[in-house]
Amino acid sequence: MTSQNLPGQPHIAYRGNELFSEDVRLSDLVKEHGTPLFVYSKSAMLSALAAYQRGFAGRKVQICYAMKANPALGVIQLFAQAGCGFDIVSGGDMDRVLAAGGQAEKIIFSGVGKTRAEMRRALEAGIGCFNVESEAELEVLSEVALSMGLRAPVSIRVNPNVDPMTHPYISTGLKGNKFGIAHERVVRTYQRAATLAGIRVVGIDCHIGSQITQEEPYLDAMDRMLDLVEAIEAAGIPIQHIDFGGGLGIDYNGDTPPPADRLWEKLLAKLDARGFGQRQLMIEPGRSLVGNAGVCLTEVLYLKPGEQKNFCIIDAAMNDLPRPAMYQAFHQIVPLQSRAEAPATWDVVGPICESGDWIGHDRALAVQPGDLLAVLSAGAYCMSMASNYNSRGRAAEILVEGNQTRLIRQRETIADQMRQEILLLNK
Ligand SMILES: *Cc1c(COP(=O)(O)O)cnc(C)c1O
Repeated sequence: MTSQNLPGQPHIAYRGNELFSEDVRLSDLVKEHGTPLFVYSKSAMLSALAAYQRGFAGRKVQICYAMKANPALGVIQLFAQAGCGFDIVSGGDMDRVLAAGGQAEKIIFSGVGKTRAEMRRALEAGIGCFNVESEAELEVLSEVALSMGLRAPVSIRVNPNVDPMTHPYISTGLKGNKFGIAHERVVRTYQRAATLAGIRVVGIDCHIGSQITQEEPYLDAMDRMLDLVEAIEAAGIPIQHIDFGGGLGIDYNGDTPPPADRLWEKLLAKLDARGFGQRQLMIEPGRSLVGNAGVCLTEVLYLKPGEQKNFCIIDAAMNDLPRPAMYQAFHQIVPLQSRAEAPATWDVVGPICESGDWIGHDRALAVQPGDLLAVLSAGAYCMSMASNYNSRGRAAEILVEGNQTRLIRQRETIADQMRQEILLLNK
């Protein structure tokens, strides 16, 4: 039987005409669990992590998985067991990490809108670092920490004003973005931080965007960060760790981001050349650890050929896979059981009542109603952004390891959806 890997998807392959993830036939999973169904490969996640670990061999580095990419407890648990810390953006994220056995001291808390209650709970838990995104936040954090008799460990998120050359919605390190503190104000902000009794400066941090496929923006941002570290330390404020954020892209459709180890070889050379090679480093990768480890399985409900467009209507939708509607993102779509017939061209769409509910435009597919399809590269920013729009329950999630499978999230029922709601009094 021939085995054929899909480009950019090392854990996904056709054996004969059947699609497998690791050693699991995906159509078998559908028989047992239905559709839509997210399936993640454990070895794909661990090998993505290993690329970073190889790149950092011999260095002091803490990899903090940016869990907003995929916050399933089973996924967090896997990365916690592999030694990762976590980049969180809410109190709920923190609760997930702690519930899955992650260590509080390896948590870093990013985000422009941390509430006082979230700050208090994170201080109680003893997280490793708050990545502070504004001067106003710094003042409030100091106040909250002081009221608890604590000093909050802080790094300031720098907005280095470099263009990551990615989609505008996932570019975060440009002047016009809401994130971080403008490059020019950073030293002043550190000087202010050093005077605040509730703040303990521990690091510096940046994150310039997501789905970055080129090296230059990273190299530019690193130069700017190191200039700042020099200026801050010249002002008498020591910086213990340098957090370089996440953002490395994945191959969705022939994209060619640098492999993590190659990128870090270059970044570490720069750090070495400027004398920072032995500093404690942190990174916050999300998508690049999980994106290509996941697929979303879906069934073709109806075919609707038309004069202008042929529609292939599937049972997954923008509530399950929001990236096409949100960012006009491209996901490959392939059959679980390939057919011999010639393909036709289809717009693959979901059942939701929005014209934005499309998963793929103009795709060449040989399909019939009842066929199963896999939407690839669905491990990051899919389930984590899923909603209940149109009263659709969120999908189930499976983790695959070799020929073993584990249900890590049950399909959401309508009872789950209605649990928090209260009917009017019937008077
Ligand atoms: C989203 C985010 C990340 C992870 O980004 P990826 O593109 O998924 O690697 C890291 N750090 C911060 C602060 C983020 O907001």
